[in-house]
Order: sequence, then structure tokens, then C-alpha cells
Amino acid sequence: MTDLSFDCATCGERHGEPPLSYHAEAPDYWTPEAAADPRSALTSEQCVIAGTDFFVRGLIEIPVLGSQEVFSWGVWVSLSPANFERTDQRWTEPGRETDPPCFGWLSTRLACYPVDTLNLKTNVHTRPVGERPFVEIEPTGHPLAVEQRAGITRDRVREIAERLLHPGVPAPSAP
Ligand SMILES: [Zn+2]
Repeated sequence: MTDLSFDCATCGERHGEPPLSYHAEAPDYWTPEAAADPRSALTSEQCVIAGTDFFVRGLIEIPVLGSQEVFSWGVWVSLSPANFERTDQRWTEPGRETDPPCFGWLSTRLACYPVDTLNLKTNVHTRPVGERPFVEIEPTGHPLAVEQRAGITRDRVREIAERLLHPGVPAPSAP
């Protein structure tokens, strides 16, 4: 095995192999007020806020260049009431992965991008029962969309770790 531990540019310490996935436990809209609403509900895979806003958890997957590995952002997307209802009805049905993708608004703010990721447009692709859906970012010039199309380097994976292993550290200023 290659040693992927690295000297951290943020704290100067040596860290182990940088993580290949990060997960948001709830949509960014899950505030204390939302949680207190009796019409709200949050599980590990689905979320409803105030009985009117509907979310599912999915994965923005990004190939790591020069490897067989895939980097994942575990995020939330909001679905229309009709699409959420269909997704929920088909939750445990074999073959659900043949359903067409549906539209979703990205509902997770990823700190590692110089441009806000909240409310990016996505296509949500259902996968076999038990697997989180694949979240495809609309192919724009947004840096997250570009990374999903082009892949990211190991250096970028390390840079993300340097940032996210130290959440209190402010973002490096954009060039
Ligand atoms: Zn560090």
C-alpha cells in the first residue's frame, strides 16, 4: 500500500490518508426552528421540513484522477412534492434504479468552493435499493460542476482534507 499520509499545510502536523468522503447529516435548512416543527422529520436518508419541503440524501461522486477511487460529497437535495412522493413510494422496490432521474436543488453548502454551492441545479439518479442516489450537478462552469466532470487530483483531495479537518479555519482567499 502506498503511504498517503501528508504534512498538513494548515496545522503543520502529519495526518493519515485524507478522507475520500464527507457527509452532511441534514440539509442546511434544518434549523432549530425547522426541527421543532411537528410536521418536520429527519432520518438518515430523508427529510421533511414543515410538511412543505422535501429532501433526500445523495452522493456527488467525483473520480480521483490516476486511480480507481471515487471521492464523494454526501449531500442533500430538495425534490418537488411529486418527485419526493414517487421516490418514497419506490424506496424498497427492486428495479427502482430504472426510474428516470429527477430534478433537485442542492441543499448543502460545501465550504471548499469559492462560489456558493447552495441551490445548484442537479439531476438525482435513483440507484438499487439500499444505495444512495447519484447526484449529478448541472454541467455549468461552477467549480463543483467542473470537478465532477473532469475529476480531481490527489493533491486536491489533500487540500480538501487540510480545510475540512480544521473547520474553524477561514477559506483561503480566491486568487
Ligand atoms: Zn492539519
